[in-house]
Amino acid sequence: MPDASVFRCGYVALIGRPNVGKSTLMNQLIGQKISITSNKPQTTRHRIIGIRSEADYQAVFVDTPGIHLQAKKAVNRYMNRAAKSALDDVDLVVFVIEAGRWTPEDEHVLRQLKGVKQPVILALNKIDFIKDKDALLPLLQQLSGKHDFAALVPLSALKRTNLGEVLKVIAAQLPENPPLYDDDQITDRSSRFLAAEIVREKLMRTLGQELPYALTVEIEQFKEEENLLDIAALIWLERESQKSIVIGKGGELLKKVGQQARADMEALFQSKVFLRLWVKVKEGWSDDERALSSLGYTEG
Ligand code: GDP
Ligand code: MG
Repeated sequence: MPDASVFRCGYVALIGRPNVGKSTLMNQLIGQKISITSNKPQTTRHRIIGIRSEADYQAVFVDTPGIHLQAKKAVNRYMNRAAKSALDDVDLVVFVIEAGRWTPEDEHVLRQLKGVKQPVILALNKIDFIKDKDALLPLLQQLSGKHDFAALVPLSALKRTNLGEVLKVIAAQLPENPPLYDDDQITDRSSRFLAAEIVREKLMRTLGQELPYALTVEIEQFKEEENLLDIAALIWLERESQKSIVIGKGGELLKKVGQQARADMEALFQSKVFLRLWVKVKEGWSDDERALSSLGYTEG
């Protein structure tokens, strides 16, 4: 029997190279979609927390932009800083990799982890891709030699395989503390922020390879009417020539993005949503520190 008088609570950083499934894992672990995901690297730009509250523990997950090797533009440097600073003030680290695929970028992340004092759990995500489950054991053995991991857990965030197991090892490693947040709170971010991120996710998923990195979203209006949320979002682009791509033929692309974003917002906010999207140009915003902070890219 667990000691009922012991309550555990702490911060858990989800760390790893881009695209390994950190945000998918966080959403599944808290049972709500608050961190956006896509098959494009560097979808997550900001640090965002997600809270899971149980009778005997509270895990405060910190989802981070992936740590990547090349950081040429200010927006990429901002993302690397957000990921690395998350390491400073957490109680526990979950290092997420793709099972069966170890890359130089994983090696780079591991080097960052060598300096941390906190326990590190290795999460081998996407095991649904591994058809031969016998291959897992030698893989686990090989990876356990890379660091003194507190635990190694194979899982699939997408298919919800082994999530109970990873929660168990996380909870066991949390320090004894009273809860930090109310048990009905799921994130530290505002509804405005979450709304902007939902629009950005739909754009990332709908647009081709290059453009998603040249845009950001700002919520211009977020008004709670009687039984309706009235939301206006501005999509900022780098160049005038990108406008027609985002709007699409006869406005089709923007319409589709708006419909998908509205559906997600209605599910998250449990309310009817009226959503309007506008497209504007702010030249060079992604490499301009001042423009970045005016668009909400502030540290912390
Ligand atoms: P992040 O950059 O590490 O936050 O990765 P995301 O959470 O955005 O996920 C990147 C891509 O991997 C998305 O297309 C996810 O749907 C996909 N993904 C995440 N977890 C799994 C998994 O367990 N199995 C499979 N097959 N795909 C996954
Ligand atoms: Mg992410």
